[in-house]
Amino acid sequence: MSVISQSVPFVDLSAQYASIKDDVNAAMARVLSQSNFILGKEVNQFEEAFAGYCDTDFAVGVDSGTSALEIALLALDIGPGDEVITAANTFIATVLAISYCGATPVLVDADPVTYNLDPNLVEAAITPRTKAIIPVHLYGQPADMGAMMTLAERHNLWLIEDASQAHGSRFEGQRVGSMGHLGVFSLYPAKNLGAYGDAGIIVTKDEALAHKIRLLRNYGSTVKYHHDIRGFNRRLDTLHAAVLNVKLRHLDRWNACRRAVAAQYDDLLQDSPLITPAVADQVEPVYHLYVVRHPDRDGLQQFLREAAISTGIHYPVPIHLQPAYADLGHKEGDFPVTEKLAGEILSLPMYPELPTAAIQRTVATISDFFK
Ligand SMILES: *Cc1c(COP(=O)(O)O)cnc(C)c1O
Repeated sequence: MSVISQSVPFVDLSAQYASIKDDVNAAMARVLSQSNFILGKEVNQFEEAFAGYCDTDFAVGVDSGTSALEIALLALDIGPGDEVITAANTFIATVLAISYCGATPVLVDADPVTYNLDPNLVEAAITPRTKAIIPVHLYGQPADMGAMMTLAERHNLWLIEDASQAHGSRFEGQRVGSMGHLGVFSLYPAKNLGAYGDAGIIVTKDEALAHKIRLLRNYGSTVKYHHDIRGFNRRLDTLHAAVLNVKLRHLDRWNACRRAVAAQYDDLLQDSPLITPAVADQVEPVYHLYVVRHPDRDGLQQFLREAAISTGIHYPVPIHLQPAYADLGHKEGDFPVTEKLAGEILSLPMYPELPTAAIQRTVATISDFFK
């Protein structure tokens, strides 16, 4: 077998497309022949289906996950002078959205076991200026929403779930996105549910908020050329919605495949020196990523690369140490858990169609590294 045929990609979106090709092509062809590219009926269909999937009442599609976060904050009238608490251990978009609306991001360190927001540290970070908490369901595992909901209620704060890595996962039986006032999802191609380009969506049970979000994403208008507020052009394209309608029907099965891949890794890595993902009680994760840890992460990643096995690091530089956030005034040591993770974490190949042979080869190569 050639090296190429044995290579293991980190993600393989073309394998998924091959499995749904006829349905996707037909859905896209329908949009092309109707040529209703902006807010066509597929957008509404997808919004209704996704709201139902999340056990919420309303969903509003937008043009990216980052837009979804920003629009969520704007819909809650969060702006200059306000503080918003979120994870130091997240993708930077969560924090950028807070900055875009003029509010101040307040970062909080991670729980050393689940890598999600530590509720005790969230409570300690609340000030009279705090307006909202944005827990991130990192790598597909829900954050401790019980604690987050208690804190939000006690301190009268908005709760926005960043569920961009966790479509379909559950906390105590409840779908992510349905527990906060607003739930935000990226639909970036490589997410558990992904469009064929940039897209995002916001879910809620609050009709007034849904209406405001609809205005914000479409020039402040629901009736053409009548503008109630100053909105944006941040709509979900009809073509993306048509693809997403096809894909949503497969999401639970794909997530189950991801859990099966994770179970195989868990089993095969049992006796390895790696720390494998810990799953909190009462959650059903969806393994957007399968993240292991080892102090010689860089050596292991290089060894795997030489064996044509692709891995990732999510994320190599914590937000508070990024030049973009130098003005928050943080220094090394401020978020010790996040900083330690950044040096040790490695995301192994993970996608629903990942062949068992690829999992076995990845694990065998990891064993070779430690020999
Ligand atoms: C992907 C992601 C985003 C941003 O989504 P885009 O669609 O890329 O704008 C936000 N938050 C988290 C946690 C993400 O993983």
